[in-house]
Amino acid sequence: MMKQDFQLSISQSNVSDNCKYITPKIIDAISEGVMITDVNSKIVDVNPAFEFVTGYKKEEVIGEKPDVLQSGIHGKEFYKLMWNELCQKGEWQGEIWNRRKTGDVYPEWLKIMKVDSSDGSVLGYCGVFSDLSDEKNIESELKKRAMTDSLTGVSNRFAYNERMNVLLDSSKGHNYQHAILFLDLDRFKQVNDTLGHSVGDQLLVEVTKRIQTLLKNKDILARYGGDEFVITFTDIHHPRDAVHLSEKIIHLLEEPFIIEDQKLYISSSIGISIYPHDGAETETLLNKADKAMYYAKENGKNQFAFYFDDLQTDAKRALLLDNELRRAIEQKSFELYYQPKVDIKKHQIIGVEALVRWNNEKLGNVSPAEFIPYAEETGLIIPISECIIDRACQDAHILARSGFKNVPIAINISSIHFHQKGFVNSIEQIFIKNNLPARQFELELTERTIMNNERETIRKLVKLKQMGFKLSIDDFGTGYSSLSYLVQFPLNFLKIDRSFIQQICSLNDNQAVVDAIIQMAHRLHMKVIAEGVEQSEQVKLLDSMDCDMIQGYYYSKPLPLNELMEFLEFWELELEGK
Ligand code: C2E
Ligand code: CA
Ligand code: CA
Repeated sequence: MMKQDFQLSISQSNVSDNCKYITPKIIDAISEGVMITDVNSKIVDVNPAFEFVTGYKKEEVIGEKPDVLQSGIHGKEFYKLMWNELCQKGEWQGEIWNRRKTGDVYPEWLKIMKVDSSDGSVLGYCGVFSDLSDEKNIESELKKRAMTDSLTGVSNRFAYNERMNVLLDSSKGHNYQHAILFLDLDRFKQVNDTLGHSVGDQLLVEVTKRIQTLLKNKDILARYGGDEFVITFTDIHHPRDAVHLSEKIIHLLEEPFIIEDQKLYISSSIGISIYPHDGAETETLLNKADKAMYYAKENGKNQFAFYFDDLQTDAKRALLLDNELRRAIEQKSFELYYQPKVDIKKHQIIGVEALVRWNNEKLGNVSPAEFIPYAEETGLIIPISECIIDRACQDAHILARSGFKNVPIAINISSIHFHQKGFVNSIEQIFIKNNLPARQFELELTERTIMNNERETIRKLVKLKQMGFKLSIDDFGTGYSSLSYLVQFPLNFLKIDRSFIQQICSLNDNQAVVDAIIQMAHRLHMKVIAEGVEQSEQVKLLDSMDCDMIQGYYYSKPLPLNELMEFLEFWELELEGK
């Protein structure tokens, strides 16, 4: 706040005598308002600036008390403090809201000085003030700027929250319904990345313009972040209205945009929450609309979804999952199950795949298909992965001690872990700690993990191979890699994804693909493992195609370690018996 350090030359003599010694000419000339009172707080003089700012003529206020100007904004306490300071220090200054004669209230910066006579008695008071209305206008302009999104000119998230709070406040006790839409552009990042930020920015401006055509005056549109918008349609009659509006927005944004002579197509996903049904507060409503938006996106994009309570349940479960997962890492409470891999021709078990199992007292058995992707998203996968590898090492010792010396264990490696800088080193440390040679292990990496053709990926694979690990490409057929591209990787095994095997007997196309994969892998000196084999017909067919190994329920489900050992023993006895 700016304050005026204007010093009045006040003669310390006879103030009540119409202030003739207060160099009246100067006072009249200055742009600050001046008001002089006597010791009883009666106004004895004012200057033209006073008249101009307050709207009162000098004659109207002479003899009055300054409280003719009081706005009613400040309480008694405020004036009490002001007087205390004035009496003690001889002056007071601060921002004060006063009332003009017209009735409107305005802010001023006021400095009041006590005027003493030479013997120390109080003669009166002199107040000098400047009107802060203009500064306040600048402030409100600045505030406005801070509240609008500079690119699109609509509200930003702060303004949205503020406007929503006002809206919801005034909706209390009425029967209003409002629809809160959380909108996210699909594939906007792609536009930005491929065509540049300038095109991205123009697109956002055009999107804003299109949405604005649907707004009524009380509706609120805000850009909430990058390519996220929130829209509040106020006073809707029925949630159906939100459906119509969302459909309209989706159609509007489906129409091509022409930007820098290019035709751009985008789409949008919208989540909807309804006031008061889904909540009475901005944060809750936004949160729910956001969740619904994610749901819409996950279920195919270019559509809208209403918030429904199961989404909340999902969120609660996610929270619980997060907490419990962190605890499980601390307590190392993951277990490994093992699924045998069988050599078709020799009918021998030539290894097992370690599959993580997590049984949590609150969540029950949580499938790795649920918690591994979650852990990958949150980075928890790295400690989990290390925990799993460590456990596989301990189990390898148990197997060896029980006489199963030649059972290589295949470990699944998460792509996130693999692409960590210190991945190779972290693996090496675990094996050194457990005093185990790498050659008893295989690492399964999905096609997606090694798909990016980076030098670093190949370097890591070569290093792992040199350390003695066998390497498998997992879930083959689900990525986009061309077969010939595998040449550059030092791989031992190729695991054909279960989705091909499932319908291998019924779909000729699948048969042809599997056949081609097997041929090609053999030419690249890789052995082929068929995953998810459940039926004897599949085994026969795969055998006829020269597939090397079978893994699947047909032979065994994944088993806990002790059951695996029983299974291995039984298998050997059977083989010997044959
Ligand atoms: P995956 O690596 O493809 O593992 C094979 C999945 O297929 C396992 O599911 C296994 O139980 C299942 N399966 C095996 N044979 C059959 C069959 O004949 N029929 C059917 N329908 N399914 C069969 P699981 O154990 O639920 O694991 C799912 C996925 O979770 C795994 O797919 C893998 O991607 C991941 N995963 C499991 N354990 C680990 C782990 O220790 N580390 C990492 N990073 N990921 C793991
Ligand atoms: Ca696997
Ligand atoms: Ca697999």
